[in-house]
Amino acid sequence: MPSYGSEFKSVIARVRSHERWFSESLPMIASENVTSQPIRDVLSSDLGHRYAEGWPGERVYAGCKFIDQIELQAIALGKKLFKADFIDVRPISGVVANLAVYSALSGPGDTMLALSIPNGGHISHGKKDFSGSAGLVHSLNVEYLAFDKDSMNIDVDETKKRIAALNSVKLAMFGASLFLFPHPVKELAQTIRDKGGVVCYDAAHVAGLIAGGQFQDPLREGAQVMTFSTHKTLFGPQGGAIVAGTEFADPLKKAVFPGTTSNHHLHSVAGKAMVFAEFLQFGRKYAKDVVANAQAFAGRLADLGEKVLGEKNGYTMSHQVAVDVMKYSDGGVMEKLLESQNVIVNRQLIPGDLQAGRHYTNPGGIRLGVAELTRLGMGKTEMKETAEVVHLALGGKKKREVVGRIRELRKGFQKVKYSFKDSPAYSFN
Ligand SMILES: *Cc1c(COP(=O)(O)O)cnc(C)c1O
Repeated sequence: MPSYGSEFKSVIARVRSHERWFSESLPMIASENVTSQPIRDVLSSDLGHRYAEGWPGERVYAGCKFIDQIELQAIALGKKLFKADFIDVRPISGVVANLAVYSALSGPGDTMLALSIPNGGHISHGKKDFSGSAGLVHSLNVEYLAFDKDSMNIDVDETKKRIAALNSVKLAMFGASLFLFPHPVKELAQTIRDKGGVVCYDAAHVAGLIAGGQFQDPLREGAQVMTFSTHKTLFGPQGGAIVAGTEFADPLKKAVFPGTTSNHHLHSVAGKAMVFAEFLQFGRKYAKDVVANAQAFAGRLADLGEKVLGEKNGYTMSHQVAVDVMKYSDGGVMEKLLESQNVIVNRQLIPGDLQAGRHYTNPGGIRLGVAELTRLGMGKTEMKETAEVVHLALGGKKKREVVGRIRELRKGFQKVKYSFKDSPAYSFN
């Protein structure tokens, strides 16, 4: 009988290695963030072993006395944070939240408007040809919102023309994965509704900026339903949620359960309640600091000669910065080159890539986010150093200097801030 004890232990050792690596790196994946210690503690609690199903007070499972209280707390705090009449905190991710919305508000064959992936759209908005969830899982016919490369935003006039040419529109999905500037929800909402469409907004990336009042306020600009992830700029546990007007509550609740979830990760629901409280307390300051940091970082990178997208509008109004890296190589090669120097970013499809024959393994750009570095306490001074280091790393000729400068920079930034008590960012043991 072989012993698997060493396999078991080696997983733990690898988790430690991962944390050590990240503690001396620049974690700049725009969809990632870090949670405070009390949220991590709750994530490993007994709640993660339990089932509930259904709505608090109407559960399918026994044993939910305290779980119900926690979920009602998450609901109350979430409604307050997003100034919404209805929230469902049960979707286990942003994609599941989107699938629930599609299921509640449309049927197979209906038309949904969304951005194409090179223009920032997410795979969950995608056509069947690209195995996008909207097409592949719910058989939606996806038509594209028009996009203007120069302003790196939706082209309002051209989109209106496209809508006019369609027979009907069931859903429109604003929001994106490459998301630099607020979308023209106000300008397009009425046109979409006149065509019979429900206006939806995918705030997966920007939920924290919206909650902190620093981006746009979709629900006040004409969006009727908003989905989001709870772990990107909103620095909570990995998960999803949906906010909407009460007129959509019944179909959305049914589409979440039993439609798209059974177990809804009760440990994560507790973490969602906690992050909503953190955001009500610290969110405004955090979101402000994130946007200021992204702008400082982008400005310095551009000064150093990098081709930062969105120049016309000041590069960014979010936590993200997009860089065309074609002067070096492609985004896939640059992602690996940066990773080898402890700079962790995504390669990124950018407008024009598909026409030029580039796809997601070798796109023209990279995307960098400052949400996590900001949560670790970095400010504008550190953003300038970060930009210089990223610029050097892209050059690829000063690897030892890059690694050393990052280690030095990270020395003072090992704690999670914007929470009720600072806690270690990499504390696994
Ligand atoms: C990240 C993202 C999602 C998916 O969220 P998960 O929580 O990872 O499932 C959905 N939509 C957009 C626009 C995203 O960027």
